[in-house]
Amino acid sequence: MTAQQHSERSLTRRNFVKAGAIACASGLFALNGCTLEEVKHSQLESDFKGIESKQYGLAINVSMLDALGGQEFIDTIIAACHSYHNVPQIDDPKHSIDWIWTQSYEEAFSDIASTYVDEKTASYAYPVMCNHCTDPQCVRVCPTQTTFKRPDGIVMMDYHRCIGCRFCMSACPYGARNLNFMDPRPYVDKATMNPGYPTRSKGVVEKCTLCYELIDQGSVPVCVQAAYGCITFGDLTDENSEIRQVLAQAFSIRRRVELGTGPNVYYIFDDSALYTNAFTGGEGTLFEEDLLEGGE
Ligand code: SF4
Ligand code: SF4
Repeated sequence: MTAQQHSERSLTRRNFVKAGAIACASGLFALNGCTLEEVKHSQLESDFKGIESKQYGLAINVSMLDALGGQEFIDTIIAACHSYHNVPQIDDPKHSIDWIWTQSYEEAFSDIASTYVDEKTASYAYPVMCNHCTDPQCVRVCPTQTTFKRPDGIVMMDYHRCIGCRFCMSACPYGARNLNFMDPRPYVDKATMNPGYPTRSKGVVEKCTLCYELIDQGSVPVCVQAAYGCITFGDLTDENSEIRQVLAQAFSIRRRVELGTGPNVYYIFDDSALYTNAFTGGEGTLFEEDLLEGGE
């Protein structure tokens, strides 16, 4: 991103106040108490230098997740994400915050779910999160540019700018966004909290940011690291990327494609990866006996 583009996207004091006034007039938000000084010092204003046009995405192999334990295994992936990002653990479903969670086939793919879908497909647990859409509706409706798209396709959150108007929550067809109705900090486990990741405050919306902080360091998202090869991350515009290789070899579906948002999380059905070096870490058939029922 050029300096000019960067400064064009940056909120001036005047724009911020104007955007706040517009949203305030709608009566839908409460200010979260952040200052313009915080806005000015937002960590997300920086660091776009050198990022070329890409579209990062994820390919989630639901067959493999099922083979590794299904919901139980996915729960460990969810825990890794939530723990790393200091996501508050609130039991009340009306106020709970989730960056990644599971849905049934019928819930996740309500538009295509068929009464006569095969039993395996219907039985899988599907991890769902922000789809880092190519044409994200949340970005279009956000009055303060709290949520914006980076040149590498990641749909970001700048928590300091969020005024809690919830326009983005209404616009997202995937329910990927959560509003902190109450102060989330008492619900972050102090014993395990990650001091390197910022906590959020009451009145702020949060969601998966594709672990941009790790990607910027040349690493991969936490869920990818925790998934034992069941989730592949990469640039979907690069035909040589690992994610494109994975997608080229297996049947995949995405959520609500008919809406035109261009979701970039793919769900693939392929248990042949059980036998590949990628999955076994180069150790041959490490998991075969453990994973395959009657695999003796
Ligand atoms: S899934 Fe929702 S929050 Fe994520 S980019 Fe798409 S519209 Fe925005
Ligand atoms: S990409 Fe990062 S933030 Fe998003 S679900 Fe995975 S671990 Fe969580």
